[in-house]
Amino acid sequence: MKLSHVQKFSAAVNTVILLMVFGLMAFFHLCKVHFLTMFSIPTAMIYFIGYYLIYKEKLLAYVWMVYCWLTFYMGVTTVCLGYGYGFHLYCFSMIPTIFVTEYISYKTNKKSVKALPVSIVVALFYVICTGYVAFFGPIYHPDQKYAAFFWIFNAVTVFGFLIFYSRYLITSIISSQEKLIEAAHVDRLTHLYNRHYMLERLEEVPADGRESFLAMSDIDNFKKINDTYGHNGGDEVLKTVADKIKNICSSCIVARWGGEEFLILSSEPLPDGKGMLERLRKNIESESISFEGQEIRVTLTIGMAVRKSGQSIDKWVQDADNKLYIGKNSGKNKVVI
Ligand code: GH3
Ligand code: MG
Ligand code: MG
Repeated sequence: MKLSHVQKFSAAVNTVILLMVFGLMAFFHLCKVHFLTMFSIPTAMIYFIGYYLIYKEKLLAYVWMVYCWLTFYMGVTTVCLGYGYGFHLYCFSMIPTIFVTEYISYKTNKKSVKALPVSIVVALFYVICTGYVAFFGPIYHPDQKYAAFFWIFNAVTVFGFLIFYSRYLITSIISSQEKLIEAAHVDRLTHLYNRHYMLERLEEVPADGRESFLAMSDIDNFKKINDTYGHNGGDEVLKTVADKIKNICSSCIVARWGGEEFLILSSEPLPDGKGMLERLRKNIESESISFEGQEIRVTLTIGMAVRKSGQSIDKWVQDADNKLYIGKNSGKNKVVI
């Protein structure tokens, strides 16, 4: 999110809170709780200073000023009016907000006040203010018919905030976990699976899965492609070949096994595996790859191994590798079974 958007959002939040402060000021005046009416004046001043801090891009200072004053405001209103109005409930929404602010500061490498001690201070303040009211009762006793309205409004606001906030946090955690898992399994250049993920999937293939096959594929003379077209040209070839393998064998699991080596696993019965690999080889041979106005031609050698009953994963991969080796030593650009 851009800083200007954050500033606009903060200014909008500041305006909403300021309007609430004026609304409450009118209410306190109506109830003749003069101390709280007067207390609304420094409260309003805080939010005017808030506009200045937002304008000066001092957002962290703004956030902490609002946290401190809100906590203080909740304490004062609770001591004056008692819990019947539900102002003290806002302390519960302060605590997760403080921790998230610390997290955002950590993510953006900004300085932040430690959330744990601050939230302990908020909790202590809550206990002191509500404890005072429990022992001595509130200082003022305005007409109780207003209390029900405030209680419902404040309780609905706090619970609504906690429910949506917690849901938002959990959704964000799940989504970033999924991204991390994907990043751990996928090769960044080709977006194919990596060797580590392929080894996990190979372990799942049943030992008697005689219909499964592996195809170890290696781009021919790739070193020369790098030497001729540069490393970026080589990367473009890797990406294009990876896309072609994925498209032609859409039901297979394809991994980047090494530099310019791809391992294809078909764990489901594929009626014409050899035919499919032959189509792949021909496609790569016949279509050149465009890179910076140049046309690069490449070929692929593939070693195919059907899993023998009871064969270990290592031996099966070795088998495909040996077939590839045979292909390389007998002229390249071929499928060996
Ligand atoms: P052969 O036909 O026998 O397979 O020969 P080759 O030149 O393809 O194989 P060799 O193993 O000699 O060279 C592979 C080259 O692949 C060497 C290495 O620099 C290059 N390579 C490995 N990873 C990458 C990469 O991510 N990008 C690029 N551009 N090159 C890479
Ligand atoms: Mg090669
Ligand atoms: Mg190689």
